[in-house]
Amino acid sequence: MSARGFSGKASGAIRLSPSALNLYRDCPRCFWLEKVRFLKRPRGIFPSLPSGMDRVIKTYFDSFRAQGTLPPELRVKEFENTTLFADQARLDLWREWRTGLEFKDEDGSVMFGALDDLMVTGDAYIPFDYKTKGSPANMEDTIRYYQNQIDCYALMLEANGMKSAGYGYFLYYSPGKVGEKGWVNFHLQAFRVDVDTRRARQTLRSAVELMRQPEAPDSAPACEYCEYLHKMNRYHSRQAAE
Ligand code: SF4
Repeated sequence: MSARGFSGKASGAIRLSPSALNLYRDCPRCFWLEKVRFLKRPRGIFPSLPSGMDRVIKTYFDSFRAQGTLPPELRVKEFENTTLFADQARLDLWREWRTGLEFKDEDGSVMFGALDDLMVTGDAYIPFDYKTKGSPANMEDTIRYYQNQIDCYALMLEANGMKSAGYGYFLYYSPGKVGEKGWVNFHLQAFRVDVDTRRARQTLRSAVELMRQPEAPDSAPACEYCEYLHKMNRYHSRQAAE
């Protein structure tokens, strides 16, 4: 045990997912508190719509995988010479985080994750992720919030001997109009994002390094959770003094 409160994870069995690494990038302090001290930031009520959408979109894509074609909306120039990864059984395993893709670093720490889908172009692979959003997406936010995720997928694919095409895709579904019989129409947007597997490896290494530190780092400068905690502490101190 190299860090206080570390529960033996510093000895080389550290396992981090892309979303844990997002938390690290978002706020190293919150990441450290969650992974080292098991103090999780409150999640609030978790909306079930995105996971329901994910499920039906996967089923939809799988039906075209079985036919060896792309869904009609993706039969455009951008996806020329691109097919869906054909091995449904392997993809099913990779869609579960327990049996998903992994990258093992030299020190034994592991990045693991579950893939939504995979495309193939020539001898290279393209990680593909579905997203549900309340309003149309844009490239700036896609890079800001999801660059790390797609970098990590590309790294894990490479670690499994699958050459990266150098980019991945995010396919966004956002609600449009309500049509006949109350059916909600969804807009579709595909964003192609370049990947950098070295960046993903570096993020993993920095996060693991941080977990081995004995003390929590500073908070992110502007954080509603911390602000709330400070206000609550001030309130309780005043109450105690009265
Ligand atoms: S800054 Fe926000 S995210 Fe970071 S530790 Fe404080 S509450 Fe958590």
